[in-house]
Amino acid sequence: MQTQSLFSEIEKLRNEMTQTLMELIRIPAIAPESDGEGETKKAEKLIEILKALGFDEIQRFDADDERVPSKKRPNIITYCNGKTDMERLWIVTHIDIVPPGEESRWTITKPFEPTIKGERIYGRGSEDNAQSLISSIFAAKALKNLGIKPERTIALCFVADEEQGSVYGIRHLIKQGIFNAKDLVVVPDGGNETGSFIETAEKSVLWLRIRTFGKQSHASRPDMGLNANRIRMQYILALDKMLHEKYPDTDENFDPPKSTFEPTRKDKNVDAVNIIPGEDTNYLDCRILPHYDVGELLRTVHGLAAEFIKKTGAEIKIEEVHKTIAPQPTDVSSRIVVMMREAIMKVRGIEPKVGGIGGGTCAAYFREAGVPAIVWSTIDELAHLPNEYAKIENLVNDAKIFAYLATASI
Ligand SMILES: [Zn+2]
Repeated sequence: MQTQSLFSEIEKLRNEMTQTLMELIRIPAIAPESDGEGETKKAEKLIEILKALGFDEIQRFDADDERVPSKKRPNIITYCNGKTDMERLWIVTHIDIVPPGEESRWTITKPFEPTIKGERIYGRGSEDNAQSLISSIFAAKALKNLGIKPERTIALCFVADEEQGSVYGIRHLIKQGIFNAKDLVVVPDGGNETGSFIETAEKSVLWLRIRTFGKQSHASRPDMGLNANRIRMQYILALDKMLHEKYPDTDENFDPPKSTFEPTRKDKNVDAVNIIPGEDTNYLDCRILPHYDVGELLRTVHGLAAEFIKKTGAEIKIEEVHKTIAPQPTDVSSRIVVMMREAIMKVRGIEPKVGGIGGGTCAAYFREAGVPAIVWSTIDELAHLPNEYAKIENLVNDAKIFAYLATASI
């Protein structure tokens, strides 16, 4: 009975949820690594929203960062107190977004001008991660409106820096000693279209910056230079092939089941067509199945570079921009997995699958710290794409799952 009235209260909040999500999209929160100003403006808006909704106990755990105008990377926690504090339901979402990419590819709306089309709200950050952020807030808001005290305290946690490695975000928060092994942690920052996937494991994540150094010269005189661009291409292609051949294993618990090695960002080199670049930079994003040794993989990367250096006379420098060694997966029999499984079956009437993904979410850092965490949400998987959208239906229905987790006596 209580569940039904709770769900219909959430339904009533549909419009308010939609409007609030749109308000947030209007304020970019891009990392300094991507030439952004960080999350401060968006965080201030979020605090304003939380206060207006009656969340009065708002804590900030800012991390210092000289690279952004405010010198701070904001992390926010607020609570909805439950009958017990012994176990707290944490819902952890991130405030930061990735840059929109080429504006011309945004054909439905401009990235920071949210627009509703049918059941979808378009805009950068709508799905990643504003949808879940709003769902978590309004799950708690519905309880407040009805005067229901949840079985367990709901702790809403909004973090910075998720897209660039979480040093100023969840890793900063974990260092403060806020979390413990009894906490129930949900990171709704991944999932599938039906909400039938509970993620308990992630691959190791390795980002490399690969720089090649040759000798700049006029394009008509390659004999006088050493083309760093050509050496970069040759090395990256050889490395790509070698990694795929050397680490071919498949683990069906993961989606996708293989390790992935993708050349991604490519930095600008020279300004003119008729200059042979003396320097070039490429990045590689690797998501490695947990049973592979990342140290050994790095030796492979460096070994091949040494061969190329010898062969070409160029210099190749490889830096680790980011590295997370896959932590122990969350036990499939842990309380949060059992609770989420029940919530999905009771609320959606479907049987969830439990498994692993390519990774890089905040959940990995909780696992590293010995706090069981799961990743779950209902999304069309548009993160980082142009024309990113959030479905209003998911916004509302995921809030019901969060409310169920907070109130069910499981
Ligand atoms: Zn995300």
